[in-house]
Amino acid sequence: MNAEIIAVGSELLLGQIVNSNAQYISEQLAEMGVNVYYHTSVGDNPARLQEVIEVAKKRADLLIFTGGLGPTKDDLTKETIANALGTTLSMDHDALESIKGYFQKVNREMTPNNEKQALILSGAHVLKNEHGMAPGMLLKKEGTSYMLLPGPPSEMRPMFDKHGKQAILNLMKKKEIIHSRVLRFFGIGEAELETQLEDLIDRQTNPTIAPLAGDGEVTLRLTAKHESMDIAVSLLDSVEEKILKRVGELFYGYNQDSLVEVGVHLLKEKGLTLSCAESLTGGLFQAQLTSIPGASDVLSGGVICYQDEIKKRILSVNDRTLKQHSAVSEQCARELAENVRELFSTDIGISFTGVAGPDTHQGHPAGTVWIGLSMKDRTTKAFLLNLGGGRNGNRMRTAKYGWHYLI
Ligand code: ATP
Ligand code: MG
Repeated sequence: MNAEIIAVGSELLLGQIVNSNAQYISEQLAEMGVNVYYHTSVGDNPARLQEVIEVAKKRADLLIFTGGLGPTKDDLTKETIANALGTTLSMDHDALESIKGYFQKVNREMTPNNEKQALILSGAHVLKNEHGMAPGMLLKKEGTSYMLLPGPPSEMRPMFDKHGKQAILNLMKKKEIIHSRVLRFFGIGEAELETQLEDLIDRQTNPTIAPLAGDGEVTLRLTAKHESMDIAVSLLDSVEEKILKRVGELFYGYNQDSLVEVGVHLLKEKGLTLSCAESLTGGLFQAQLTSIPGASDVLSGGVICYQDEIKKRILSVNDRTLKQHSAVSEQCARELAENVRELFSTDIGISFTGVAGPDTHQGHPAGTVWIGLSMKDRTTKAFLLNLGGGRNGNRMRTAKYGWHYLI
């Protein structure tokens, strides 16, 4: 089977958004053994979309559309496909009920254009939208299959994973299930991880192990194939166990987990509270923390102590420390972490002090960072980082390392 992914939306052509949907779907299809020969992007323009459909249906077995299923006037994907295929749209009552339910839940008046979202291509199989309103759908017509998915990745991805993949497997009449799991690591380079696992990676065929690096993190994608889902899962479990035996220390989560989420969850579970003294990160660490629901159970507060004067006045860092060692020092990181913990009466105090760059500061090269961790039992630790990135990269990675040490 071969597929073409057709992303609909003028924003894509104007460069306002990146076509991450095509990337995601391609990655999944590759694992399923579906060849993707073309990615097409087209604006919210019925005539041009129709042209694209005419071409694509001649060269692909499966056309996957994303975008343009919403309620507004520019959302024309379904209408245009119906036209191109000489078919009609009909109301899907289950979808309509769930849209009505949504409006009741948020206590808002449902406007008539929202009903349009429950229209499906006549005869199509509905793909439920569990994270939004517009349902997706799959229609087979004259030997070609048409799958329609919503544009927002937060709706498209779970719909594709939960309902789309199975529908495609059914089309392929494939009984084999492809199941994958991503293991996430921080604090180790891709090359180093690969070296530690080299023999496993080479030997392993089911599941396969594929490393990928980005943003200072490394992930391993494990992919198992089997007719039974239970066996596929146990194949993944057993190779995961082998991997974690060797590099478990640096493992922090699965699939879409983020260091921040995992960290917040862990602190919450242990009933620990946190306060922060942020110099070079300027609040970044706390901004990330507060983006996670439930952050208030964990974060008590913090100080952005950018200037030495504030480190002294608000967080009582010793004058001698700053004069003798400068703010970019183990001693300063320790005092900041201890004093912020005291000031906010929390279980843990964390501090970030260093040189984001691009210039050197008081003789310390850009990327020199100290992270301090002070615990309620009065033990304090400090960690030195030598980051080699640009200003913002160094700040981002510093915040991530904060979570790494906390976890
Ligand atoms: P909505 O109901 O939100 O209008 P829709 O199915 O009509 O959804 P669009 O209106 O085309 O989809 O796009 C909505 C949003 O989804 C875009 O503003 C963009 O943020 C995101 N989006 C759309 N297409 C893509 C894509 N190919 N890759 C990544 N994000 C996308
Ligand atoms: Mg829309």
